[in-house]
Amino acid sequence: MTQAVQSVQTRMFRLLRSGQAMTRQEIAEALSLSMPTTLQNATRLIEAGILEECGSVQSTGGRRARRLRLCPDAGQAVGIHIGIHEVEFLTVGLTGETQGAFSAPYPFKDEPSWYVGLQEMLAAFLSRERVNVSRALGGGVSLPGIIDKQESQLLRSHILGLEHMGLERFRNALPFPAVFANDANCACFAERGAGQGNYVYVSLNETVGGAVMLNGTLWLGDTFQAGEIGHMLLVPEGRECYCGKRGCADAYLSPQALERDGWDVYLEHLAILLTNLRMLFNVNLVIGGQVGGQIEAHMQPLLEKTAQYDRFARNIDYIYPCAQKNHACALGAARFALEKYGVRVLPETGDEVL
Ligand SMILES: [Zn+2]
Repeated sequence: MTQAVQSVQTRMFRLLRSGQAMTRQEIAEALSLSMPTTLQNATRLIEAGILEECGSVQSTGGRRARRLRLCPDAGQAVGIHIGIHEVEFLTVGLTGETQGAFSAPYPFKDEPSWYVGLQEMLAAFLSRERVNVSRALGGGVSLPGIIDKQESQLLRSHILGLEHMGLERFRNALPFPAVFANDANCACFAERGAGQGNYVYVSLNETVGGAVMLNGTLWLGDTFQAGEIGHMLLVPEGRECYCGKRGCADAYLSPQALERDGWDVYLEHLAILLTNLRMLFNVNLVIGGQVGGQIEAHMQPLLEKTAQYDRFARNIDYIYPCAQKNHACALGAARFALEKYGVRVLPETGDEVL
């Protein structure tokens, strides 16, 4: 939907979906709307249970102006992460905050019985979380591979051993429409918050990956492989990587490599990768994935090692541990779904522009 054809209610919804509260006056100003248009549509959204009043502020005329915000419980989106060994389910409310989450071991197999099992586990989760499926806005699915722009195929997943696999098998197993995305892109999206428009997300999982967020939008690249940092060359003629090459970052930065090498050697390799990313993008770097969840206690040596390589920065002040330490892929997938399907919550009677 382009800016030009967005309805007033859609624009109000998008303005408030981060969970912030605003007065009617502030909403009118932010969206360049007249006050009558703003008041009429705000009233409709309150009546529909989508907006609620919360607290008040002193307005210029001395009267107290009430603030409005989205009701988090007015709608839900569902995130599903398909890992190599496990699945994760998660629900978010309208403002993108996690409401419930579940994960279980469930090794992926591209067989009909696997999809039936997924369907049953999802149904059990939704019932436990009291999600009314007919009212769920939509789903997001995170997959460990490269997905085409039309979201019709998993183009390639080294780790699942798949190429050109149609996504309709997943779609058919879901009770709502769904959006599909690469797992590192999902985890990266889950980190997007206020003032965090530019960063590279470094995903340190059993497979190492990453994603690039520029101006609040994921940079996918010409062939949707942007951020495949696990296969950047880190050590010439080094360890064999599962992709067939030698010396890839993946072979040195997975949790398994950490176990083998210990923190000191691990951080040395990570520091080289981070310096290269900083040189290329000149943005903040977010350390995520399984190792990212434990990196906080090792930040000092990591920053010191990075400083050896970065001769441009006075301080290494651009490396951060991830904020989402659990279920990041499922959370990002759910938020993708919210972004795509959230407007479905708006009343069909539509709005009137005065
Ligand atoms: Zn590789």
